[in-house]
Amino acid sequence: MRILLVEDDAALASALTGVFDKAGFAVDHAQAREDAALMLRAGHYAALILDRGLPDGDGLELLGDLRARGSTMPVIVLTARGTLDARISGLDKGADDYLAKPFSPDELMARLRAVLRRNGSFQGREVVCANLSFDIDNQGLKVDGESVALSQREGALLALLMRRAGLVVTKRLAEDQLFGAGDTLGSNAIEVYVHRLRQKLDQAGSLAEIVTVRGVGYLMRARQ
Ligand code: CA
Repeated sequence: MRILLVEDDAALASALTGVFDKAGFAVDHAQAREDAALMLRAGHYAALILDRGLPDGDGLELLGDLRARGSTMPVIVLTARGTLDARISGLDKGADDYLAKPFSPDELMARLRAVLRRNGSFQGREVVCANLSFDIDNQGLKVDGESVALSQREGALLALLMRRAGLVVTKRLAEDQLFGAGDTLGSNAIEVYVHRLRQKLDQAGSLAEIVTVRGVGYLMRARQ
């Protein structure tokens, strides 16, 4: 799942990127409103984390533009102006949640999960396919109740495939969700992760399989 972080404080942005990365999110980072507007037009994001005090203006204006275009993307606003007035104006502009600095990265993670769940991006904490169950929150896979260790990106790819079991996940979507804009990607990056996942699933006795849809992408289904 890919999110956009708009924050001009380099130290905070780097700390948050680390936390999100660890939790299995791909993060793109913008330092100014203009850059963020361009990235929002070009990319598909599951959520936006938006600082208010940006070098080229108030982040809330970006939020206003987004909502005016009809976007329902979950948005969490970050601000040093934690007063009641600032909070109300943020929520009025269409923020899903509001966090005053300083805050703990864990609290931001918890709130991000909450807005994604409300938005339907997380359909509960667990997805199931055949004898596989995957816990979205801690990226834990179990096959027949036995835990199977996965890397972050293997977990992110599996979650994407399992949430859309029976439907094709295009290679492009998988790349978007697994990697940030700053990552350099080999043309076979997704194939490599699919290959590793298949090996792990086979070894664990999975009754679900990842099928290649030639020229399009992959889909997950119960073995036939
Ligand atoms: Ca700022």
